[in-house]
Amino acid sequence: MLRFKNLGSGSAGNATLVQAQSGQSTTQVLIDCGLSMAQLSARLELIDLELSDVDALFITHEHSDHVGHARQFGLRTGKPIWCSQGTQLASQTIDWGLNSDQLCCARDGETIEVGELQLTPFTVPHDAREPLQVCMSDGNVKLGLVTDLGHASAHVLQSLRQCQALILEANHDQDMLRLSKYPSFLKSRISGPLGHLSNQASAHLLQSVMHDQLKTVVAAHLSEKNNTPELVGLAFGAVLNCPAHEVIIAHQDHGTDWWVVS
Ligand SMILES: [Zn+2]
Ligand SMILES: [Zn+2]
Repeated sequence: MLRFKNLGSGSAGNATLVQAQSGQSTTQVLIDCGLSMAQLSARLELIDLELSDVDALFITHEHSDHVGHARQFGLRTGKPIWCSQGTQLASQTIDWGLNSDQLCCARDGETIEVGELQLTPFTVPHDAREPLQVCMSDGNVKLGLVTDLGHASAHVLQSLRQCQALILEANHDQDMLRLSKYPSFLKSRISGPLGHLSNQASAHLLQSVMHDQLKTVVAAHLSEKNNTPELVGLAFGAVLNCPAHEVIIAHQDHGTDWWVVS
């Protein structure tokens, strides 16, 4: 069985727990560590887990809302941390004081096995040194996770094919961003090809990878200033053919419920 629970999503910090179970064996991997150890522990405690129950951490890229507390996680737990060579260099992981075998190099298209869970990273266009996003599987079903995406490249679309569940960035509403008080360089960065997906671009990506077996879609990494859950609900609902209020949103403060991938 494969299931996931987002623990918090947005520019103030990201973390998603993915769990694969087979017989008596359970594997838990955390994707990104943008929440403090206190926040992370508190959110894990709500589901009867603790930091030491996490078997590995995968970091998508070096922006602080993803890598911010990874060093503390590594020092506290001693568990492996996977990320690209570029993310290691940009995050200066060499100075983190971890065990030499604790940092592991993730590469586009090379599947990582952690217990019952397989993670396959893929390269994405985003303004970081070597950003990866990731698909995960228990050998039966597939979960795709992609936040912090400038645009839907052919490689991204191919990587997200045949997912039964998808966590997908819906960062901003184009009009809200345009009319916001953000300085123009920041508006250009966010809406540019190496920035973040608008609701419209995200809905378009979703349409491109839709198929009958894609059962669960979660909208994530919503801007708190330039988006609303209602607008995301309308954009995704139009593709998923459901009312706006039924679209699953990953919240900054409490993430999502558990969702089983089937
Ligand atoms: Zn981010
Ligand atoms: Zn980012």
